[in-house]
Amino acid sequence: MTPISKLVIATGNAKKLKEFERLLAPLGIEVIPQSAFNVPEAPEPHCTFLENALAKARNAARHTGLPSLADDSGICVHALGGNPGVNSAYYAGQHKSDADNNAKLISDLQGVSDRSAHYTAVLALVLNEIDPEPIIAEGRWYGEVIDVPRGNGGFGYDPYFLDVELGMTGAEMLLDQKGARSHRGKALAKLLVEMQQRYGVDDASSS
Ligand code: IMP
Repeated sequence: MTPISKLVIATGNAKKLKEFERLLAPLGIEVIPQSAFNVPEAPEPHCTFLENALAKARNAARHTGLPSLADDSGICVHALGGNPGVNSAYYAGQHKSDADNNAKLISDLQGVSDRSAHYTAVLALVLNEIDPEPIIAEGRWYGEVIDVPRGNGGFGYDPYFLDVELGMTGAEMLLDQKGARSHRGKALAKLLVEMQQRYGVDDASSS
């Protein structure tokens, strides 16, 4: 039987939370934002998405006593050596402004012809703070950075991130479209497969 009937989502990002709620809706697990428990944001001092995701998941589990799911994600621009990468949220400074981050990215890419980039998301699910077997899953979304923003949806770098195959930016996509293409959606699909292997499909959806 699955040990998960309630899952805390370890993020303070309302748009990320919305994506998770949508993607997890079919699971029959009660999804609760960490803000409902006043969980303070975890520090993200590490140089890997993996370590930061684990730190956030553990932080939420410690404060809530509940299984917790965290995501650490960012955009890796190939001509910038993978930057902003794990620093995506703070690229233009600690004030965490999407507008300033995008302005810095576009300015850094002035005159650069290679616009290829990918988003990465690493998800970490822990049953409790000292879970020795966290479930980890990674997803990537490849595209290009464009100079002129398009679309009003999404968040972060989405208006400047073009999915070349679809010809749409992340901000032009509906939530379900983005979920089917995105780093987060792909990582979550892998996470669900592992959850089903560990806990069984029926248990996971009926608990
Ligand atoms: P985190 O919340 O510390 O993982 O920071 C993630 C940052 O990466 C966000 O603040 C965005 O700047 C960027 N990011 C991650 N995922 C996305 C996405 O799906 N769309 C746009 N930006 C994203």
